[in-house]
Amino acid sequence: MTALLEITRLDKTFETSKGATQALRDIRLTVKEGEFLTVIGPSGCGKSTLLKIVAGLDTEYAGSVRLAGQPVSGPGIDKGFIFQEPRLFPWLTVEKNIAANLSLKNPAIRERVDELIQLVRLGGFAKSYPRELSGGMAQRVAIARALLRNPRVLLLDEPFGALDAFTRSHMQEVLLDIWQENKTTMIFVTHDIDEAIYLANRVVIMNAHPGSIKRIVPVDLPFPRKKANRSFQELRHLVLNEFEKVDELELVDSSGI
Ligand code: ADP
Ligand code: MG
Repeated sequence: MTALLEITRLDKTFETSKGATQALRDIRLTVKEGEFLTVIGPSGCGKSTLLKIVAGLDTEYAGSVRLAGQPVSGPGIDKGFIFQEPRLFPWLTVEKNIAANLSLKNPAIRERVDELIQLVRLGGFAKSYPRELSGGMAQRVAIARALLRNPRVLLLDEPFGALDAFTRSHMQEVLLDIWQENKTTMIFVTHDIDEAIYLANRVVIMNAHPGSIKRIVPVDLPFPRKKANRSFQELRHLVLNEFEKVDELELVDSSGI
């Protein structure tokens, strides 16, 4: 695997009327082609800010962010983005939401849309409207829409955060299927430690104030993984332990010591 994404000395400061907030400090990260990276950290540690910079949605930063050797200078179809809410067009069917600005009359598009509908397990729902779908199904439409553009990287910002535990675990299976089938590089932000370990080749643990990388934990467990396995639970404790340290730091900060 070669390096697809290279981030060096990334700093991001927001200037607001109340002053400056340093959201990210000295982020250094390399992501390999085909890798599944998850990012976890306390609220406000800069996870969304980092993802938006990689997506090219925010280009005001210091440092270097390169995708496939090119500096990231704006959004584009090479970088798919999945938000917590699916953001579908309510007046379009599932297949038209996936195609969006591409024509289903084009046989190659038609064929790929049909394949993607199967891949995200929405067979039989091509002609349904978003209001007829559950939250998990709608999010699968959003993922299919991004994949149709063949992105170099898929960036997912707490994509399953609004879903119930059962749906969330089904979505994890679907996403792993997609990853194994398409080999798309994934950067996935989550609040859920089990989810972070279950999906990842590596888990990036972030700190807040300012947002920085605290530790990167490789997950060398074979797929399919079992959350109840001892080796999984050991990793869980290791990650949890890092969070307890983060919480302690926050306590110290808030007491003003
Ligand atoms: P996370 O996704 O980890 O919860 P964010 O990336 O949303 O964190 O935010 C990181 C920090 O940057 C927070 O302190 C947040 O208040 C600040 N921030 C994020 N977006 C903006 C913005 N548009 N303007 C000012 N501050 C922002
Ligand atoms: Mg966020």
